[in-house]
Amino acid sequence: MSDLTSFALPHVAKLHAYTPGLQPGESGWVKLNTNENPYPPSPRVAEALRREISADGASLRLYPNPTSAPLRAALARHHGLKPENVFVGNGSDDVLNLLVRCFGDADTATGFTLPSYSLYPVLVAIQDGRADAIEFDRSMRLPLEPIAASPAKLFLLTSPNAPTGVGFANVELEKILAAFRGILVVDEAYAAFARENAAALLARHPRLIVVRTFSKSHALAGIRVGWALAHPDLIGLLDRVKDSYNVSRLSQIAALAALEDPGYYEKIISKIKQTRDLYNHQFAEKRGWFTYPSQSNFIFTEPKNARGETGPAVAQSLYDFLFARKILVRHFASHALTASFLRVSVGTDDEMLVLSEALDAWQKQKPTPA
Ligand code: PMP
Repeated sequence: MSDLTSFALPHVAKLHAYTPGLQPGESGWVKLNTNENPYPPSPRVAEALRREISADGASLRLYPNPTSAPLRAALARHHGLKPENVFVGNGSDDVLNLLVRCFGDADTATGFTLPSYSLYPVLVAIQDGRADAIEFDRSMRLPLEPIAASPAKLFLLTSPNAPTGVGFANVELEKILAAFRGILVVDEAYAAFARENAAALLARHPRLIVVRTFSKSHALAGIRVGWALAHPDLIGLLDRVKDSYNVSRLSQIAALAALEDPGYYEKIISKIKQTRDLYNHQFAEKRGWFTYPSQSNFIFTEPKNARGETGPAVAQSLYDFLFARKILVRHFASHALTASFLRVSVGTDDEMLVLSEALDAWQKQKPTPA
């Protein structure tokens, strides 16, 4: 630690930042590592952005709508809720960060499961907060009882879960809501690819917050817009702590335009689900790799080498083999339940073919002795 960092709060000085997946600067990569949408956003998005920028970009002189009011209204219509039930943030990461800020500190635990979205522990650490981390077992079934008994005021649950892709049914979420005494956040970043989502439970469960994003299903990760659906009192808390202008003018315009083209999104989402099911099946049946049934836009699979071995070193060797061929996937080496797996985001047909050929080549390779 340098002298300068010692001026910072001790928990900040020793903080480990979240590590996002690689975003290579140059082209030529088959990029299957950050669950982005392989297809472009609705053409209406680029049209709306061009209109907003006009010839000279004059509207950019002006601050955006501070509460993203038109977007909240459109999202409320989309969900059959009221604008008071909707909060809009700078990506769903912003929404999650604000939630942790509102509910957690050193004395008040924030809960999450492991493995799950690896940002959660970082958000808690930023607040110098107390974490109640509840472990899955290899079945990846929801640990209902430990969550129900958690002392946390706020519990972050990802459904479908990341990086496994396993989705949790609403009946299970309702069991948690009946027994857990705090606020349950269901992070539904991947809900558009799932069989069920929790939005329908909001009417019956005031302690539920559903968090969504335009990044995955709406192919707008670069624009950074996420939203929360909840009881107006909970939305009011987020409004007290958010940045004054937390969503840019162009981001609001892009998200609004995307919402106006549901037909386009139905098509690309259904295509992604089809590709996912095909490759989920191929990994599990053709290659014989243990693969969780995915309800998201990625596949979590445990590679087996030519000798039929699995494990963290095998996963790492496949990661390196793919990386050398400019194919990017994700390896979460730090948790025992994820270290022998790779997560592959669903790409275009061409990208999935390139991946398949590389996997065939790797499987035929004689593994180097460990
Ligand atoms: N939740 C989960 C489970 C995620 O995987 C991600 C993306 N890494 C996010 C939230 C954040 O998405 P964004 O900030 O792009 O909305």
